[in-house]
Amino acid sequence: MKDQTFEIKIGDLLNHVAVDEIIFENKKTDLIPNLSEEWITGKIRLSWIDDENILVEIEELECTLNETCDYCSEPFQRKIKIQWYSSRFTLNKDEVNYANDEVLFFIDEKTSTINIEELIYQAIELETPFVLYCPDCAKQHENLSEDEVEESGFDVEVEQWWNIIFHK
Ligand SMILES: [Zn+2]
Repeated sequence: MKDQTFEIKIGDLLNHVAVDEIIFENKKTDLIPNLSEEWITGKIRLSWIDDENILVEIEELECTLNETCDYCSEPFQRKIKIQWYSSRFTLNKDEVNYANDEVLFFIDEKTSTINIEELIYQAIELETPFVLYCPDCAKQHENLSEDEVEESGFDVEVEQWWNIIFHK
């Protein structure tokens, strides 16, 4: 059974120092339409920070995506494993991200819930390389780069590497 509920009740977690762990499996999200049918599995840990903030950590997230190779256009499956990813959820609607690279989410005060769908989507998005190679093309590409390093040194290798990507 798969489900699309990414809402988690935080209950009284904001009122006292506490940690809560949730294991999830078979999560499906419309944000990632190319998810394979193993869907998403992983662990979520919620930790009290203070009476307005909760730290949400994702651990051992796994899923497989159906991809198309940017080089040979063949379909292939890309397995994703994320050891750890985290974000802060806050009640404070006025808060501006104080660290430039911090992504902040909000706690729904009325229902005392958080929705981790966007967080999971972001974690998976970060694993997406600029160019998607199927295993065969990735291997070929690796060999090519190694040869070029031996022949002409690092600077030229980088330049040619980019040429290979864009001249299909
Ligand atoms: Zn390919």
